[in-house]
Amino acid sequence: MSNIGKSSEKRFKFSLINQGCRLNAAESQRLISSLQKKGWKLASPGEAGVILINTCTVTHRADADLRKLIRRLRRQNPQARIIALGCYVDHYGKAEGADLSLPNPQKMRVLELLRNGEFKGKRKRWKSRGFLKVQEGCDLACTYCIIPKVRGRSRSVPLGKIREELEELLKEEYQEVILTGIHLESYGRDLGEKQGLLKLLRSLEIYYPEIRFRISSLDPRFLNPELLSYLLSSPHIMPSFHLSLQHRSAKILRLMGRGSGEGFEELIFKIKEERPEAGVGADFIVGFPGETEEDFSILYRFAREVPLTYFHVFSFSPRKGTRAAEMRAKIPERISKKRAALLRGLGRRKTEEFARSMVGKTLEATVIKEGEALSENYLRVKFDEKLPPGRRFIFKIIGFLSPYLRGISQG
Ligand code: SF4
Repeated sequence: MSNIGKSSEKRFKFSLINQGCRLNAAESQRLISSLQKKGWKLASPGEAGVILINTCTVTHRADADLRKLIRRLRRQNPQARIIALGCYVDHYGKAEGADLSLPNPQKMRVLELLRNGEFKGKRKRWKSRGFLKVQEGCDLACTYCIIPKVRGRSRSVPLGKIREELEELLKEEYQEVILTGIHLESYGRDLGEKQGLLKLLRSLEIYYPEIRFRISSLDPRFLNPELLSYLLSSPHIMPSFHLSLQHRSAKILRLMGRGSGEGFEELIFKIKEERPEAGVGADFIVGFPGETEEDFSILYRFAREVPLTYFHVFSFSPRKGTRAAEMRAKIPERISKKRAALLRGLGRRKTEEFARSMVGKTLEATVIKEGEALSENYLRVKFDEKLPPGRRFIFKIIGFLSPYLRGISQG
């Protein structure tokens, strides 16, 4: 690896492709920022001397996507060194076709391997919103999930380290920061703290009043009343809640090892009662082994009747090494696909209905690229003014043309 990036005009140019969760996104952002400080310049995969791929292995499909991606990058840029990082490598030992594979614990070694950059120009932002990993790993054991095996037990990033990273993000003028983790509500437990996430959020609010935070994902089973009340009342927290629900049939949730779903409805109605403008999303898995038509109907009715504003729907795909992969009563793919399509269709209608209800209101939104912003409640806003990416603005919402709101900046 000693001659990485030293042989052509592509030297000192790198590209980073992020796959999977927001935790990966946070790590990718850190890598980019560190490499840029070392003088490396962010470039497209076609122009880069080194291509980093921060991999995911949540499903078999993710694995297949990675292999396809490496083949495509090889064709597109045969000279580039391809380095695979993270979960895929943890799971399989290495990524076929990559020049180097580094598992999660060694991910940051890539910084030692890529030294002596020369680029002195203005640093380029990778994303318009800052991603900050505060927690890693998981102590739970959902039957479909490989993450506890590949990422290990829950570990919290200490407040001092979080502050260091936030200072970096502030230097880069980020105004919105997404706090990420595999299971955020476990934050602080390994440090012997109760209410660790709540304490962390309260500290961040004091230290960084200028930043608005978005919480990447919440597990309703661990959302205690104090934490919920803080999330619903703090102006520093965006009214945007992504709930890891997965299903609503008590039978399927038990098979998933995720309780019974009791209290899901009350939680969602409470959020909307206290913050009617909030975006409330959910992850759902359909086609889990044993899911009957009746189970799916329970889920569909639930999703239709509660005031969720968007869904992320996944078709179950068995992950080798998990208990769910061994379960009988597999659901044929065509049935899973049909159920996923039905639920996604419902999700789109609900998002549209929610978006229409915002017309005439004002919303704060972070500019994510030219002419487009992401609202505090997780809707896309198109606008005509020239506004810098990464900054937050108040928009008057004047219309809706699916899938975008139309807004005028109020400054
Ligand atoms: S909570 Fe369940 S699904 Fe989420 S990371 Fe932990 S084991 Fe996996």
